[in-house]
Formats: sequence, structure tokens, C-alpha cells
Amino acid sequence: MSGECYFCNGIVFPSEPDDILLDGHADHAVYMHRRCAEGYNALESVDGTGTGDGDDDGDGGTRPVVCPECDAVEHVAFGPPASSRRASDSSHG
Ligand SMILES: [Zn+2]
Ligand SMILES: [Zn+2]
Repeated sequence: MSGECYFCNGIVFPSEPDDILLDGHADHAVYMHRRCAEGYNALESVDGTGTGDGDDDGDGGTRPVVCPECDAVEHVAFGPPASSRRASDSSHG
């Protein structure tokens, strides 16, 4: 399944890690490229420098994306960074 980017009308593939699909907050679905979202300030940047509590680093991070249609904020999970590999080795038995 693919759609057109809300900003540049380009083809967006939700399966790609750099593409965004907002379909969990309303009846409408909005496709957008990550770079386009960043360009139009739709992708809110989260600073790691927090003052406080509950600092968990690791995988499975989501970033708030503002829907250009209804200004709703939806948290989208991006794929893991390319230069990150988890060592899942179980040598037992
Ligand atoms: Zn785009
Ligand atoms: Zn919306």
C-alpha cells in the first residue's frame, strides 16, 4: 500500500523507515516523507537533554508527528538506525 505525500505529492511507502503514515488518530490517513515533515515542522523534534526523570535510552523510540490535516499529534515509530545491530545470541544447551 502506498500513498501520495501531503507536501510534495510524491509516492510514500509506509514500509520504508523514512516514510510516515498517519492513520491512527482519525478516519483519514495522511502520507508524508520524513524529510518533508521535518521541512514543514510537522515532525516535532525531541531533545534528549531532559531535566529529569525517566530517561530510557534504547530502541523502540517514537516521535510525535503533527497531522497537517487536523493538527492532531500522532506518535510514529521509526525504524532502528542503520548503524545499530543488536546481538541476539543464545548459546545454551
Ligand atoms: Zn514528500
Ligand atoms: Zn489528521
